[in-house]
Amino acid sequence: MKSKGKFGKYGGMFVPETLMPALEELERAFHTYKNDKTFNAELNDLLKTYAGRPTPLYHAKKLSAQCGCTIYLKREDLLHGGAHKTNNGLGQGLLAKRMGKKRLIAETGAGQHGFATALVGAYFGIPTEIYMGVEDIKRQHMNVLRMLLCGAKINPVSTGTGTLKEAINDALRDWITNIKTTYYVFGTVAGPHPYPTIVKHFQKIIGKETRQQILKAEERLPNAIIACVGGGSNAMGIFDAFKNDNTVRLIGVEPAGKGINTKFHGATLAKGKEGVFQGSLSYVLQNEEGQIQDTYSISAGLDYPGVGPEHAFLRDIKRAEYFSATDKEALEAFKLLSECEGIIPALESAHAIAYVLKMKKKKSDIIIINLSGRGDKDLYHACNALGIKGTYE
Ligand SMILES: *Cc1c(COP(=O)(O)O)cnc(C)c1O
Repeated sequence: MKSKGKFGKYGGMFVPETLMPALEELERAFHTYKNDKTFNAELNDLLKTYAGRPTPLYHAKKLSAQCGCTIYLKREDLLHGGAHKTNNGLGQGLLAKRMGKKRLIAETGAGQHGFATALVGAYFGIPTEIYMGVEDIKRQHMNVLRMLLCGAKINPVSTGTGTLKEAINDALRDWITNIKTTYYVFGTVAGPHPYPTIVKHFQKIIGKETRQQILKAEERLPNAIIACVGGGSNAMGIFDAFKNDNTVRLIGVEPAGKGINTKFHGATLAKGKEGVFQGSLSYVLQNEEGQIQDTYSISAGLDYPGVGPEHAFLRDIKRAEYFSATDKEALEAFKLLSECEGIIPALESAHAIAYVLKMKKKKSDIIIINLSGRGDKDLYHACNALGIKGTYE
């Protein structure tokens, strides 16, 4: 069983025996429906008419001038829900419906995956409960309100750092006790098999569209694709269509928090070690005794000590490269993109922009940044950190 869902040596199904039947049922359903014509027609129609796909590939001319090369933004920020999470939410929601499940549960960090699951629950009419850390509830209040409005129930999680890692633990615990009725909508390409494969399958559409769009616009492939990495789903979604194009650099950007050499960051691939965490073998941030390290990032969606197993594999075989950006660099990029393009990025996506600002570039380079989400949810937090008050007395 542990050989299933492997990316090199990474991945697998490291879960309590009681969860195995649920994961196997999910795997069987996924294999049945992923090539099912009716399923795919319904999903594609939803992605188009409800969520707004295809999202544009936008030539950011002023950002390009700032950077001294050609920069395109893949506009997942324009997807319904405000981030790429909706691609996966709709896919897994439809799967849950086909499986006859009566209840959806999900974890969330920044609240984007929680909201994607809540809107899917509303759309399909399936009761939905979201596990969210108390710290994240505080810093992402807008998404909490959005989930409540769509009829989801929020289960606050106060253990540990009160962030994503603890929310996943509680959601897994819920699933173990309610396996028969409940579908666990996992939000990223991490966790036990089959989740890394399922989530990538539903996010691959980003790269598929991008490849067609850039070939149409420039008649050639880009030099690099840049995406932020929390668990790694938006990055895997855009990387996949280019993985066999060896001239295209694939670059993931992790959160360096207050600095990669402090204790306050979430740079799993840069600073982590191999280990089993939340169901799979991958890189994990851990201390010398192998205890999972608490993470820190200004962006709740990247604040996670694990990372998807396929990223660990791509790093080892050197097909993808991983770098990091600090909170400060992300905030500057957040402000810069807003000022020069009129596009307010999610703080997560701002990490990818920050890395492009500091990386070495040639004038002839074409670089595509996956703009994974929009920044509405981060306004209060980011403006506070930037000293933008907006009060007039
Ligand atoms: C959730 C989220 C991320 C991080 O998750 P990945 O699985 O690494 O993509 C990045 N950007 C936004 C806008 C998010 O909502």
